[in-house]
Amino acid sequence: MVTAAANRRGTRSPADEASPAAAPDVAEAAGLQLSGVQELPWLVAALAATLEHQKGHAVMVHADPGIGALEFAFGLAQAWLCESGDGAQRPCSRCVSCRLTRAQTHPDLMLRLPQHLALQHGLAVEYDDKRKPSRQIRVAELRSALDWSVTTSGRGHGKVLLIHPAEAMNAVAASALLKTLEEPPAGMRIVLTTADPGLLLATISSRCQRVVLPRPERADSLQWLQQRDVADAAMLLDATGGRPLTALRWHAEGLDARAWAAIPSAVARADATVFASWPVPRMLDALQKLAHDAALRACGAEPRFFPRASLPDGLDLVAAARWQQSLLRVMRHADHPWSEGLLAEALVIEGAQIWQGVRAPSPSTRPQPRAEFSGSRFPNA
Ligand SMILES: [Zn+2]
Repeated sequence: MVTAAANRRGTRSPADEASPAAAPDVAEAAGLQLSGVQELPWLVAALAATLEHQKGHAVMVHADPGIGALEFAFGLAQAWLCESGDGAQRPCSRCVSCRLTRAQTHPDLMLRLPQHLALQHGLAVEYDDKRKPSRQIRVAELRSALDWSVTTSGRGHGKVLLIHPAEAMNAVAASALLKTLEEPPAGMRIVLTTADPGLLLATISSRCQRVVLPRPERADSLQWLQQRDVADAAMLLDATGGRPLTALRWHAEGLDARAWAAIPSAVARADATVFASWPVPRMLDALQKLAHDAALRACGAEPRFFPRASLPDGLDLVAAARWQQSLLRVMRHADHPWSEGLLAEALVIEGAQIWQGVRAPSPSTRPQPRAEFSGSRFPNA
């Protein structure tokens, strides 16, 4: 069982990983800790519909990242385990079982998340301090959950295994889960989440009832963020591609509209210091969005992620296409143990070349890329 606060002191904030906000205390302060769908109004109707129409013992929740797939799966598990009487709305939030799931101490609920995501949600995980938190659900972690699944239910109302996201299981772990999906122990239910069912084994997808979560309306997302005192909610929502939970996390990490809007001009000046302390996946995400928006603006279309006024004029489309290829190559190896600063310098200097007429800093001030991060040394897929 992954439990929450009890072992927080035993966990380490992975400063070199997803974000400083992965620290449980920051997650708690920002309201990022795991809850059900009660806090996410755009998912309430979807949960009620799923409970009404659910058949079988396994559900796959398909949703874009950052809109609440984990919270939905958690709410579904809470409803399945709720002990309120017939006819009551589930989850009732009042019964012993609902209180236990909310406290993340229910003996019949097992969560399996990669370590870095568990930390983001303030869940206690154990890992080697010398290594980065895992981005995979390891085979041993899944097997221990399957061993747990055949033990007697603690409260006599069945058991629930929640896996988020299912694509974090490697092939061996997925194969181990398959047998339980085919022949689950009595009273066992499984809920998986995924951002891309195409990444999963077809034999897993075919054994689950699929639930596709709706994207929240922009107005609903803005209201939700503003209720949580997120300044610059509109720009942060655009920056995340309309993902309110991601926008809330970025806000908690200290990213504001001014810093986001400063990225295009900084890249045009070949100034990589704008990404100081950014983890590589976050920096690559921002650079890809910038390349996307720069191309849109050059074609006369409205940018999607950055304010129009923040984007320099004079794009060189050939250089932009070359830069996008470089970013894609690095994206395929985002988990490689990069030297963040050197990688940022190399990518930003290449990015600066896409804007014609934007003068780069003089050689005396321009950051020099190290040889190992020249474009030709990026790993090829
Ligand atoms: Zn209940």
